Amino acid sequence: MPPSSPSKLVIASGNAGKVREFSALLADLGLEIQPQPVGLEVEETGATFAENARLKAIAVAQATGEWALADDSGLSVDALGGAPGVHSARYADSDKARIARLLQELERAHAGMGQSNRQAHFAAALALADPSGRIQLEVEGRCPGVILETPRGTGGFGYDPVFLVPAVGLTFAEMDSALKGQIGHRGRAFAQLAPALLKLLKL
Ligand code: IMP
Repeated sequence: MPPSSPSKLVIASGNAGKVREFSALLADLGLEIQPQPVGLEVEETGATFAENARLKAIAVAQATGEWALADDSGLSVDALGGAPGVHSARYADSDKARIARLLQELERAHAGMGQSNRQAHFAAALALADPSGRIQLEVEGRCPGVILETPRGTGGFGYDPVFLVPAVGLTFAEMDSALKGQIGHRGRAFAQLAPALLKLLKL
């Protein structure tokens, strides 16, 4: 039997910044949005964003018996061979320390290369699991940018203050949530997911 269409969606993340962004993206769909249960930790053992998103969506759907939407995202920096990538959250203990380490590693890499390359991209893989834990939808969105030498802006979370999107001349931390939702990796991934999600919701 196909699963019943969702009316409630658990956001499979303990990250308040992500839950906030998803709530804004999902605001028009008339779904009840819930954060994942406190204390539920899903080990991110996947080698890719897509694998980790799948793991999280399945674990949270099975734990709650609800539809679960998971995001695994991170920053990949060209001169660092794609790091921090799937390790973005674990790169250091706080957002400030993560940014400091990123800038330090980039300086070190540049010293070794003898030239500067600050190209990077954010990626977000989304996975939607039905209440039985079966994956129903999967997408991935990307946003290209460059890493600044010094942080700019006070909004957002994570690496936002050092990620500049040249097309608009602003860091993620300088954008309002509508603009980040439109051009950011999570927003782009969500734009791909939305038509299929609407179909599942029978809207
Ligand atoms: P995870 O997807 O929970 O493994 O965590 C991804 C990590 O990547 C976050 O903790 C942030 O450090 C970083 N990250 C993901 N998306 C964003 C974003 O939109 N802005 C800034 N940092 C982000």
